Amino acid sequence: MKILLATGNIGKLIEMENVFKGANLHNVEILTLKDLEEVEEPVEDGNTFLANAYIKAMYYYDKFKIPTISDDTGLLVEALDNAPGVLSARYGSVNGEHTDPKKNNERILQELSNESNRYAKFVTAMYYYDGTNLISSIGELEGEIVKEPRGTKSFGYSSIFEVPKYKMTLAEIDDELRYAINHRGNAARLLIGQLKDYIIKK
Ligand code: IMP
Repeated sequence: MKILLATGNIGKLIEMENVFKGANLHNVEILTLKDLEEVEEPVEDGNTFLANAYIKAMYYYDKFKIPTISDDTGLLVEALDNAPGVLSARYGSVNGEHTDPKKNNERILQELSNESNRYAKFVTAMYYYDGTNLISSIGELEGEIVKEPRGTKSFGYSSIFEVPKYKMTLAEIDDELRYAINHRGNAARLLIGQLKDYIIKK
């Protein structure tokens, strides 16, 4: 069975391949947008991660007619009233466009400079859609925003987000452990658990 992972991000592909292997699903070939004809991106104007993941799953299934898994992720910082949330990709931007992760991180660190409550969480919403079946899941990872970025092993907000159990930022944690504990892995495991029972066995 072929599944389209609606991203061009190779890191997300590797994570998802790991989750499929972990679920003992070896007969699934995962494609990404890089394997297909280039199309415009959909407008992600939902108010929630689920709404944006839904928009992407519907859009890319409609374009390619391949069973599609989409995800939408964001960081929620408690002391910032859960910002940046759905605006995570553009929080440090001056024109509202997606921006350099460094700028996003700088804005958060600056806004938290006098704040003792550093609690934050990542949330990932995921959808699977194949034209008939629609499945969704949510995965989370709790942690704390550090004072200075640390680590280079991951992308986005990872270098400012510490996982208390390991006293390391997500960007300091090795890939294998990160895939095992992170928000996207958690959402993917829940989604694939449902897929396995519901679709792939048919
Ligand atoms: P997207 O939904 O994957 O496009 O991500 C939205 C925003 O969250 C972007 O700014 C990403 O860089 C950031 N982001 C997504 N996933 C992660 C992660 O696993 N670690 C750190 N930042 C992430």
